[in-house]
Amino acid sequence: MNLRTRDFLFHLAPVKSVALCCILALMAPLSARVPSRAIPATAKPGAQGISADPRIAAALELLKDAADATTEEQIRITEIPAPPFHEEQRAAYLKKLLAAAGLSVEIDSTGNVIGKMAGADLNDIVLVTAHLDTVFPAGTDVTVRHDGSRLTAPGISDNGTGLASLVAVARAMHEAKIHTQKSIWFVADVGEEGEGNLRGMRALMDAYGSRFKSVIALDGSAVDYVATAAIASRRVEIVITGAGGHSWSDFGAPNPINALGRAIAKFVETHLPDNPRTTFNIGDIEGGTSVNSIPASASMKVDLRSEEESELPVLERELRADVQAGVDQEMAASRARGMAAGRAPLAISVNVLGVRPGGQLPQDSPLLAAVYDADRALGNRSRAERSSTDANLPLSVGIPAISIGGGGSSAGAHTTSEWYDPTGRELGLQRVLLIITGAAGLAP
Ligand SMILES: [Zn+2]
Repeated sequence: MNLRTRDFLFHLAPVKSVALCCILALMAPLSARVPSRAIPATAKPGAQGISADPRIAAALELLKDAADATTEEQIRITEIPAPPFHEEQRAAYLKKLLAAAGLSVEIDSTGNVIGKMAGADLNDIVLVTAHLDTVFPAGTDVTVRHDGSRLTAPGISDNGTGLASLVAVARAMHEAKIHTQKSIWFVADVGEEGEGNLRGMRALMDAYGSRFKSVIALDGSAVDYVATAAIASRRVEIVITGAGGHSWSDFGAPNPINALGRAIAKFVETHLPDNPRTTFNIGDIEGGTSVNSIPASASMKVDLRSEEESELPVLERELRADVQAGVDQEMAASRARGMAAGRAPLAISVNVLGVRPGGQLPQDSPLLAAVYDADRALGNRSRAERSSTDANLPLSVGIPAISIGGGGSSAGAHTTSEWYDPTGRELGLQRVLLIITGAAGLAP
């Protein structure tokens, strides 16, 4: 599937201002509907013999022993709130953890926690990220509840798993004295979810993009796939405004909520292609001030996604047309009641909240070979998938990037009933380590 149609589709949006969000934990339901490629068992090895190196063997053993401690750390991380645009408290904690893992750590002006592990080459960098932020607003109860081996809390896996894995793998590499050819930056980054619009990854790309040779995003738990293609998305906010009025004395005056309702009723009937899979979501609506007032405004936030970027402008045109039709119908209804004359007509404004480009890792990428090698060494099977994560941004500009899970199992991402089960998580931790070291190469 060709996703590289960005140039003419999003010519208004600079590539570097593009972003996208994480849906990794949604991949299980998604994978049932999206065709995926099985990774061939005969794929060419990219970093042959890495798992036979005694330092790597020692690190793999350390990770196995550290599985329970990693879960304890994941619980502590999850219980530090990290609502959108307020990751500071969790960032400060990750800074301590990454420093304790032997890295040289700083927090950049965007809020990213950057832990550096120097390789033989300081300029070539393998960037490993795990996003700090959650989708949950401030005040959400993030207490982790225990039920057998299952842990339940908002953000427990997305991205508690990624963050705990980031720290565990850095520590194991440090303790096993693994020295790599390329340098490795372990980064807990901000703004991956929703309206964060990848601001953390965008800042990293703006500042250091040319030095990143591979990008590995740790997101969620799954080890049965590797995300090698980025789903394109576009998020818009539609705002309809009017003069407002009294519910009784101004009855019949143009009502923005009525117009928005008419628009939504029309838009949700839009026919979407199955292939390329294309979706929309109306995720947030607001409007009005009281039950007995005609509102002065109504708004909605809409998420549009597709495997094929060229579908997004088509869908957005439909959305804008339906909003216009909803307003036109409401104005016609108001005129029919004799209440439109002398009043300001309803007005529409559209704000683009986020644009995330598509992109695809080439089949012959050495980074993908490192994944094949890791899976072979661990007896794991995984398939290539699509997702919307921090990896989208580097993929969109041709930097090899993947998104992988940290091990264990989970479900319910982006809901308050999200759960994580750490059973078998060591496989994921070891897989992360082998992929990172495969991408960075071992130095003597
Ligand atoms: Zn995530």
